[in-house]
Order: sequence, then C-alpha cells, then structure tokens
Amino acid sequence: MNTHTIKNFTSEKGKAMLSYEGYIYTLERKNDVKLIFRCQNRDYKGRCHTNPTMDVIVSAPTEHCHASKPDLVPILEFKNKIKSRAAETNVYDRAVANLPRSKNAIEGWHNAFAKRVAIVHPTITKLTEKIRREQSKFEVDIAQIRQGQEPKPKKLKYRKLDERIKRLVDDYGNVDLGDYLKGLAVNMSL
Ligand SMILES: [Zn+2]
Repeated sequence: MNTHTIKNFTSEKGKAMLSYEGYIYTLERKNDVKLIFRCQNRDYKGRCHTNPTMDVIVSAPTEHCHASKPDLVPILEFKNKIKSRAAETNVYDRAVANLPRSKNAIEGWHNAFAKRVAIVHPTITKLTEKIRREQSKFEVDIAQIRQGQEPKPKKLKYRKLDERIKRLVDDYGNVDLGDYLKGLAVNMSL
C-alpha cells in the first residue's frame, strides 16, 4: 500500500482522475471495494487500483510502456483550479446570459476608484477629499437617473471586451479547453 503522491482531479467531462508517480490515470470502472484507474496513454498494463476514497493505492501498475509525464500534473492542477473558480463565481453562466461577470458592480467601482486615487498610500486628508468627490459624482449620477436619464453606457473598450468574452464563452463546447483558456486569459486579469 502506498499513500504518497496521489493527487485527485476531475476531467473535462467530470470523470475522476488521479496522478501517481508522474503518471496520469482516468477512472475506468469501480465497485464497492475499489476503483480501477487506467493510464491516460491507455497502455495494456498501466492500471492502478485505489480504495473507494481514492487516497490509497491498493494495487500499483505493473509497468508502463512510456515515460512518466510529471510536468503535466501541475497543468492539470491549474485547469482544475480554474474550473472550480469558475464554478464558484458562476462566471460562465453569467457570461452566457449577458449578465455582468462580477457578482456586483462594487468590484468595478473599487478598481476605478483605486485608479482615480492613484496614490498607493494616500494621506487621510487626500483620501477623504477623494471620497467626498466620488460621493458627489455618484449623487449627480443618481439624481440624473431619477430624472429619467439613461444610465451611462459602459466605456467602448469594456463593451468590446464583453463582446469578445461572450463570443469565446458561447463557443466553449466547440474548442479545446487549452485554446479556450488561452483565449480567455488574453482578455482577463485575475
Ligand atoms: Zn501508461
């Protein structure tokens, strides 16, 4: 039995995966006492068995007909992180539905305000003055909206960004996950 170096993942299709000693496996089948994982390369003897909780290797693979690929493990980890982050914030569904991607406009306001203050450690006096100005700016905006004026449209560069992200996200089912993530990465800063 061996408990070291087992890492659990989920495949793009939601299947259980694991990495062990630099090899990557996908769940092939399971029963009440064990799970049988098959090497991603689908070689003849590259199977390992784990306990039901996937944290102990109960039977290690006999041999592989190829070298291990430990470099792929961190990539897999990264993809899984992105996925769970996207699931948490539900950015994907929001982008598909054309809703704002962040959960509230406050995030956007915070970024804009930080830029407007433009000093990393402003003095209290300066910060107070900035906040006062910010507040009166928003009071004017609110008053105008109450008088029936249309809210300010998003800046062109953000409208363009929204359009690009919407196109990428709509195409999610048709592209390779790697290309999809690369496309999104160009348009985002985390
Ligand atoms: Zn193999």
